[in-house]
Amino acid sequence: MIDTTSFLNELASLLGERGLLREPDAMARYVSDWAGVTLGMPLAVARPANTEEVAEVVRRCYAQGIAMTPQGGHSGLVAGALPAASGQELVISLERLDNVRAIDPINFTITVDAGCILENVKLAAAEHDCDFPLSLGAQGSCQIGGNIATNAGGLNVLRYGMMRELVLGLEVVLPDGRVLDSLSALHKDNRGYDLQQLFLGSEGTLGIVTGAVLKLSPRPTQNRTALLGLPSVQAVIDLYGLARRDCCDLLTAFELIPRRCIELAIEATPELRDPLESAYPWYVLMEVAATGPVDLGAMLEQLLETGMARDLVLDGALASSATQSAQLWQFRESMLEGQRRRGEHLRTDISIPISAIPDFVTRASEVVMDASPECEIIAYGHVGDGNLHFNILPPITLSNADKKAHLHALEERLFEVLDDFHGSISAEHGIGRTKQAAYLARLSPIERELISGVKTLFDPKGLMNPGRILPNDG
Ligand SMILES: Cc1cc2nc3c(=O)[nH]c(=O)nc-3n(C[C@H](O)[C@H](O)[C@H](O)COP(=O)(O)OP(=O)(O)OC[C@H]3O[C@@H](n4cnc5c(N)ncnc54)[C@H](O)[C@@H]3O)c2cc1C
Repeated sequence: MIDTTSFLNELASLLGERGLLREPDAMARYVSDWAGVTLGMPLAVARPANTEEVAEVVRRCYAQGIAMTPQGGHSGLVAGALPAASGQELVISLERLDNVRAIDPINFTITVDAGCILENVKLAAAEHDCDFPLSLGAQGSCQIGGNIATNAGGLNVLRYGMMRELVLGLEVVLPDGRVLDSLSALHKDNRGYDLQQLFLGSEGTLGIVTGAVLKLSPRPTQNRTALLGLPSVQAVIDLYGLARRDCCDLLTAFELIPRRCIELAIEATPELRDPLESAYPWYVLMEVAATGPVDLGAMLEQLLETGMARDLVLDGALASSATQSAQLWQFRESMLEGQRRRGEHLRTDISIPISAIPDFVTRASEVVMDASPECEIIAYGHVGDGNLHFNILPPITLSNADKKAHLHALEERLFEVLDDFHGSISAEHGIGRTKQAAYLARLSPIERELISGVKTLFDPKGLMNPGRILPNDG
């Protein structure tokens, strides 16, 4: 039997008063996520200040059989960073590991602590005329370690790739407390198995990331943003095909937005005005960016002319300044807040082949509306990555408990349609706890065996973020 009081007292003397929180008030900030989900209180919250302290905390947990919850900016959306209802997990927050360790503008790399907030890494890169291109709505709070653990994507994946493509080296504290130091800044390295890629998207189940070498890009010196009105999802996909070819690989974002999301954005941010003179069923928010002497304005105008001539684009607004561009992006950000204010709803992050998006949206909408005609569907997303948030707002008349049951049934129907399209139930947020059943149901026996084997190899005692991705018993 573990004497948790003396275990925690020893951790307090290791980490100091700031380093260990035990009072419920002090821990409150660490038990819920962006969506407001809370499962339970942890044993305590450890806030180590450096890699050595993380390793020592993990060593002691391993020796005592105490389960650990690595935690970044708690913006994850699958309850992976939340301590379990059992009250027996130690949260290990990375928030005090927030130093930029080095930047090399010639090698185009930045070496950071895992607790650095994404926005701060972007600013540090910009000071050296470089760009760290990962961009997402939670960038003011999510941490690099969380981005690595969830293999985050965001708005610019179609040009720069997901986190998997942006990490060159990692420092990880393994579940037994040993430190795997592979902070390599090499752009090419083909020696054997690529162990570090296993940590990308591992959701804190294989170890705690404490540092990373990230790949930078030249900082774009110019960009152009456009918000366009379109008649159909098919027109959106056809325009995407044109844009990919005609924008010389300079396309950085291509977002699908339905009319309802424009309304939700205006509800959340009343100072926003309808962006175009008329309302259109579908919108595209797109951006091109470049360094050097390229005429982006002419490129975008040419694309729009072609799009209009082919009846793909009905109207559009082109931003002619950074302020106008920020205003157009405000719709994309505010619509998330608008949805959140609607309370309980089904949030998905699925993917399908880009060319299949129109058929999928039609089929999935039919199935959902047949099952529940009073629901509202809002399908938006990073179309250039085949990644849709096919979200469902339940009837507001239902109680919260009824909404949950209702949405769960609809999610199953939606995922069945997705299976017909050979899609993925998670292109962004990962599995965590909330998608575990749907994930396991779709694993082949051989996949299940290999995945369980990897987990057991790294974490034989099953103490690192237990119950996320795989159930506790593997
Ligand atoms: C408004 C909003 C917009 C978003 N947009 C996108 C988007 O466009 N694309 C996208 O991919 N995602 C998006 N997300 C979700 C995305 O997963 C998170 O924003 C982010 O990557 C998680 O980082 P975090 O630091 O908040 O991690 P947390 O939420 O704290 O943790 C997430 C998972 O990672 C683990 N973890 C955290 N830190 C570490 C570490 N140092 N070592 C090991 N494991 C760790 C946790 O245990 C947990 O399992 C969005 C979320 C919000 C709220």
